[in-house]
Amino acid sequence: FWTEIAITPTSEVEEGQVLAVIRDISDRKEIEKMREAMLSNISHEMRTPLTAMLGFLEFVIENPVGETELREYHTIMHREAERLNEMITNFLDMQRLKAKLFENHFKPVDLRSLVEGVVALFAGPAAIHSIVVDVPATLPPVLGDAELLHQAIANLLSNAVKYSPRGSEITLDARMEGERAILSVKDRGIGIPRESLEKVFDMFYRVQITSKHHATGTGLGLALVKEIAETHKGQVWAESTLGQGSTFYVSLPVVGNDQKQTGDQA
Ligand code: ADP
Repeated sequence: FWTEIAITPTSEVEEGQVLAVIRDISDRKEIEKMREAMLSNISHEMRTPLTAMLGFLEFVIENPVGETELREYHTIMHREAERLNEMITNFLDMQRLKAKLFENHFKPVDLRSLVEGVVALFAGPAAIHSIVVDVPATLPPVLGDAELLHQAIANLLSNAVKYSPRGSEITLDARMEGERAILSVKDRGIGIPRESLEKVFDMFYRVQITSKHHATGTGLGLALVKEIAETHKGQVWAESTLGQGSTFYVSLPVVGNDQKQTGDQA
């Protein structure tokens, strides 16, 4: 990009400022490039279920099909339509939340009540897992957006539910490590192969063997968790043993004493 921009430093402009301007432009170009790549990726991914549905529809329109076969085709078409629907919903959620990321109105958030709020959505008489929460009341608040953090925890918990057997235990805990709160969601489920541990955070990535058994899923949930964590100046990572379970971690900076006072007054 150096050749594209001609900036002559004058006595009024410090060298650092010029560099900052160039960096800003190149950042924006980078974002634009990412957006384009993302859009073409999305169109491609959404076309897959649509192509399958069209193929089956054309077949049944043009050929005499028995009742059993028809039922089978309808089931496939229904599944693909659901997948497309889920993709669009997730994608719109993602866009909405992304817009929110720029609002920058972070406040002190109590992780314990946030976790309890998410778990309540998964609890109740129909619950198929036993969910254990261990977040100490003494944990300092994190600086963030409650709705975004809620969404991130909900995505992790819904994966833990989706990829682990009925009746197994899921543990959500949080603890301090240095200046950060580390939240973890641990399941005793199918696990993730080592070579996929980092890739699961990429948009649309799904572990192949998993997607065979769990037809629904879009590969967008963890990408969003990563985005949310990074906007909070935090990180995400996963540990897993195949066949035994996975643990997803999110680290989040907690509110410092000075910020806490400002937040409390707000
Ligand atoms: P989705 O679940 O909709 O496919 P995600 O982005 O949430 O998309 O997850 C990406 C992939 O990572 C999943 O398809 C699955 O293969 C794997 N995965 C995520 N969470 C877990 C988990 N708790 N246990 C095992 N595999 C998981």
